Amino acid sequence: MNVTNIMADLERKHPGENEYLQAVREVLESIEQTYNEHPEFEKAKIVERMVEPDRIFTFRVTWVDDRGEIQTNLGYRIQFNSAIGPYKGGIRFHKAVNPSMLKFLGFEQTFKNSLTTLPMGGAKGGSDFDPVGKSDGEIMRFCQAFMWELWNNIGPDTDIPAGDVGVGGREIGYMYGMYKKLAREYNTGVLTGKGMTWGGSLIRPEATGFGALYFVEHMLSRAGRSIEGATVAISGFGNVAWGAATKATELGAKVIAISGPDGVIYNPNGMTKEKIAFMLQLRASNRNIVAPFAERFPDTTFIPGKKAWSIKCDIALPCAFQNELNGEDAKELLAAGTWCVAEVSNMGCTPESIAEFQAAGILFAPGKAVNAGGVATSGLEMTQNAMHICWSAAEVDEKLHYIMRSIHEQCVKYGTQPDGYVNYVKGANIAGFMKVAQAMLEQGVV
Ligand code: GLU
Repeated sequence: MNVTNIMADLERKHPGENEYLQAVREVLESIEQTYNEHPEFEKAKIVERMVEPDRIFTFRVTWVDDRGEIQTNLGYRIQFNSAIGPYKGGIRFHKAVNPSMLKFLGFEQTFKNSLTTLPMGGAKGGSDFDPVGKSDGEIMRFCQAFMWELWNNIGPDTDIPAGDVGVGGREIGYMYGMYKKLAREYNTGVLTGKGMTWGGSLIRPEATGFGALYFVEHMLSRAGRSIEGATVAISGFGNVAWGAATKATELGAKVIAISGPDGVIYNPNGMTKEKIAFMLQLRASNRNIVAPFAERFPDTTFIPGKKAWSIKCDIALPCAFQNELNGEDAKELLAAGTWCVAEVSNMGCTPESIAEFQAAGILFAPGKAVNAGGVATSGLEMTQNAMHICWSAAEVDEKLHYIMRSIHEQCVKYGTQPDGYVNYVKGANIAGFMKVAQAMLEQGVV
């Protein structure tokens, strides 16, 4: 494989799709050496086939807002790769959603799902619908209109969507209601992240954040360090940040920052139960601002316009959006003494920031390994739906623990450098790739 040639070809075919090209480049650079040791992959043109999605559905979503005005948005579902299982991945509602963003997410999802040890292919979907400031009725009508177009292309053994940025339990509920009406079947396994009374898995809402902290614990223990007493800066205040803040606090760390698009909350005394619960209220308020946190808790300070990375911390956990931590932020963190960065958002760190962390020799792990607990628990939800049973929270949590340990082991196996430093980016990419590549090889040219 020649990365330069493949990337030049992709840039020509997909000009301006920067996030997608960034995600592909990172994976190809990581796997190049291993790939070239396998002439059978080269012969079967595995990489050339893997970088393009199997298919993309694009559709118009028309709905009526509270003023009675007709609104039109674009909807997408990208079925990226089904070599190791049915298409699986979340749905993102955000004003910036476009094909490049969803292609990067679908591509990443393929490797992430492979790392989970479960049989799931990769997919992603979404819409440029902006949920900020929308009423509950508007959210419902939009979700129904979205599903009206999508329902025929998904199914428990075909493609299983779930939540992502802007899509949580409420949206999954509205989408499932419409799916059920159209399909005339009670197919719970068609969506994950469902409510607990109708097929949802216990621990699924917490799983991305909890799994991330389990992964961090493994990284730290391998490096002879402990999370207890460490200061943690978290970006975001949504579902993922909430799970991470909950588990970090439970493990004895002090969460000293959370943030939103409007600025950062400096929280020198760490989290309490009330503060963590208030994060959920902030998200449910649909205003996408974090400032009210400081009004509610006088021992915290709101610093407008600043990122979480401006707060001195031991461990940084990006939990919001892609490329939310750049090269300058990385320098600021390193100067302040940060010694571990774990991406919980998908591709939360820019390539420049990752290069900074790796050059400094600090612990760094990529989203596709760190945040895989979310989709892994979706996989466990699918299993429970298929078996028509419900596991206890303790059973699901135990399986999540096992999966995160296994992902960490795979990263160490493929990412340990001759000098002993674990390149978790390389490890995650190679481990995720090998399984999908082998399956594609064995299934022939399709
Ligand atoms: N959106 C989440 C992710 O990025 C979860 C996907 C799922 O549960 O299918 O992995």
